[in-house]
Amino acid sequence: MTEQFTPPPARGCANTPVLKERGQHEVFCGLTGIIWLHRKMQDAFFLVVGSRTCAHLLQSAAGVMIFAEPRFATAILEETDLAGMADAQQELDRVVSELLARRPDIKQLFLVGSCPSEVIKLDLAKAAERMSAQFAPNVRVLSYSGSGIETTFTQGEDACLAAMVPVLPQTEARELLLVGALPDVVEEQAVGLLEAMGIGPIRVLPASHINDEYGIGSNTFYALTQPFLTDTHEALQRRGAQHIAAPFPFGEEGTTQWLRAIADQFGVSEAKFAEVTDAPRARARKAVAQASEAIKGKSVFFFPDSQLEIPLARFLTRECGMEAVEVGAPFIHKAVMSSDLNLLSEGPVIAEGQDVDKQLDRCRAARPDLTVCGLGLANPLEAEGLTTKWAIELVFTPVHFYEQAGDLAGLFSRPVRRRDLLKLEAAE
Ligand code: SF4
Repeated sequence: MTEQFTPPPARGCANTPVLKERGQHEVFCGLTGIIWLHRKMQDAFFLVVGSRTCAHLLQSAAGVMIFAEPRFATAILEETDLAGMADAQQELDRVVSELLARRPDIKQLFLVGSCPSEVIKLDLAKAAERMSAQFAPNVRVLSYSGSGIETTFTQGEDACLAAMVPVLPQTEARELLLVGALPDVVEEQAVGLLEAMGIGPIRVLPASHINDEYGIGSNTFYALTQPFLTDTHEALQRRGAQHIAAPFPFGEEGTTQWLRAIADQFGVSEAKFAEVTDAPRARARKAVAQASEAIKGKSVFFFPDSQLEIPLARFLTRECGMEAVEVGAPFIHKAVMSSDLNLLSEGPVIAEGQDVDKQLDRCRAARPDLTVCGLGLANPLEAEGLTTKWAIELVFTPVHFYEQAGDLAGLFSRPVRRRDLLKLEAAE
């Protein structure tokens, strides 16, 4: 391919001092991860051990999906459990036995901790161990925390995958592992491109069925597809697996560099790499150029939400011509994020954590052309005349790799175009 990337910045953000804030948060808890995880893992069931609040959160986040016999539910802690009058472990055993008797299709069960279960110190790890022994070999029972005290939004997926890593068998096979729950069509594209380069065998975590699982060992090479999988990354390191560091596969550049890092690890030639990627790269460039016309030269401000913020700021500044004012993320894991931070030109404030009032003041002072934030802030900021993009869509919409690069740029340019159209109509 003759067209090259924009050269990397002379000074990236890797050494920019991070503004660390602690205060009021406007974010989801990790339970929301269940919404996309249960669709991906088709023989798994997620049993939240929590309160009515947790059940309401899942119902409202899942929308119409709750009518389709989903594979998640909440075991609601009643007052007798909270007051210590009932043996919560026994109650849980009863609920799980009933559930598994009714649903023989369940092959893996996740007990998901919540704020109330953590506050009363209900030991779900112990419960999972006991139930695994009881229901083996038909059902595997694991536990993780999705509570708001411990996890923010996408960290729920991280906690779930990290819980699976220690129970996968040992292997010495040289395999590529793609880590992160991607929509099926996106996953197929990634696997297709890598296989076309002759790379294999390729495994994915999470696998769609327990029977598709594989081993992990020192010859497992893994690439993360999502930036929030930091505990999973550390769990894989503990098993001796080797991380392929790369920018995350958003946009044409991110996807090419991500594929390049894997191709180098597996000894793919330049010619083969070009043969496989030239056409989709050209398509992606064209689509991004078209979709980003409305946002070129405009400024963007990210509130923390999903940990996708830094790679997306890199995509918007380098491929769509935007200028980043502030890039806020709930957590910044330097080792996982360094490839993206190196490509993000020095300039924006890099913020970790949140003190929402202070951040709102900075946002109002900067008056960015586009503010990426959660639903709780979006409408109030729109009412103040700021244009917003709901961050949650970036997690639920297929946005990775070449074929989605134009759609990704479109997600950011749509609110800007709509605002321009409304202004025009108002002027008429
Ligand atoms: S886990 Fe905590 S933050 Fe999440 S819904 Fe339940 S009570 Fe609320």
